[in-house]
Amino acid sequence: MTAELNITHDPARRSWIDTACVPGADFPLQNLPFGVFSTADQSTARIGVAIGDQVLDLGSAAASGLLPSGGAEAARAECLNPLMAAGPEVWSALRARLSELLGADSNAARNTRDLVRRHLVRMKDVTMHLPARVGGYTDFYASIHHATNVGALFRPDQPLLPNYKWVPIGYHGRTSTLVPSGTPVRRPKGQVKPPASSAPAYGPTRSLDYELELAAYIGVGNPSGSTLSVADARRSLFGVSLLNDWSARDVQAWEYQPLGPFLAKNFATSLSAWVVTFDALAPFRTPAYRRPAEDPTPLPHLLDPADQAEGGLEVTLEVGLVTPAMRRDGLSAHRLSSGSFSSMYWTFAQMAAHHASNGCELRPGDVLGSGTVSGPDRSSQGCLLELTRRGAEPVLLPNGESRAFLEDGDEIILRGHAERPGFVRIGLGECRGTVLPALP
Ligand code: CA
Repeated sequence: MTAELNITHDPARRSWIDTACVPGADFPLQNLPFGVFSTADQSTARIGVAIGDQVLDLGSAAASGLLPSGGAEAARAECLNPLMAAGPEVWSALRARLSELLGADSNAARNTRDLVRRHLVRMKDVTMHLPARVGGYTDFYASIHHATNVGALFRPDQPLLPNYKWVPIGYHGRTSTLVPSGTPVRRPKGQVKPPASSAPAYGPTRSLDYELELAAYIGVGNPSGSTLSVADARRSLFGVSLLNDWSARDVQAWEYQPLGPFLAKNFATSLSAWVVTFDALAPFRTPAYRRPAEDPTPLPHLLDPADQAEGGLEVTLEVGLVTPAMRRDGLSAHRLSSGSFSSMYWTFAQMAAHHASNGCELRPGDVLGSGTVSGPDRSSQGCLLELTRRGAEPVLLPNGESRAFLEDGDEIILRGHAERPGFVRIGLGECRGTVLPALP
């Protein structure tokens, strides 16, 4: 996580690819996110960079000698793990070279344009895969607004537990059910005990929910038995994508005590295709959450001045819903909420430092989910559990439908972007998933 601004962030620079220069485009020259794709012609997965409506095939670009030595080797892999492991100097050098190759203003671009053009694939012709082989997935709970709202629904007498302001709370998720954006999600079955019943029953969840989150990918990580300072953790983080932590609230309510989430969460987690690097996010850094004076100061191993000054991210995240009826009538997605990542109580560097603080090894490609991104008001609550008060106050949709929780055929679309005066807006793309009916 290097916060320095350089020529790759210069708002005056444009790409020679026209679609990267359209105002509001997710993938301008200043973004350059990494992903893994295949095509109908070439089914081998390979690394690409999104630029406008095109994907630059990094594997073939590397084979043509277009990339710097450190990054070129990692660029020829079938997943991002080797690049993530290569470290900040390699990431920055690769980004600088890509910016040069794709920028309209450089001599390098003029000389190599025809060569680079041969390695471009139209985005509409690619199939995107998970960007990394994710060895470990941990989901945090870093929004104090979300934690307080959810706590109030499950434990009205004690919404926020006493450890919350000391410990970045998290749990170990499951990697076998991480899926790329666009993968349908089957309604899970589980054990549910309605309050009025004396015994639970097994069946399809009746309160399927989404959670709007950011995922951070670990770059370098730490060897087992060692720890990461917050400063080291900042340098270890590679980039972010969107994450939807699908959740079965009725299953969760019955199972979550005493050990936390289990089958209510591990049936599916969706990740967006493009990993936006912390390098690209440098212009959108913001101070960490400003704790009220009465809140405790984090313990020294979770406190770092630079992280406090700029460990937050000014990233706007939003959730859209398309119901089957809306799809049939050609209606566009209805926005359920929109919030800012700057409202998170813990920074990603604090989460990573805490994760490694007992000597737990973090590896390249590991995913840290932020937890549901919810702000202080209702329009910024990042899941239906909060928005509908656990189903008691359904959301009304413009076409007259309503939703307490998700129904079969509903599609959830997460989007995110960063913008700030004086810089070019960059986007995270989208993370989609449609609910399939439970198996009979
Ligand atoms: Ca979550």
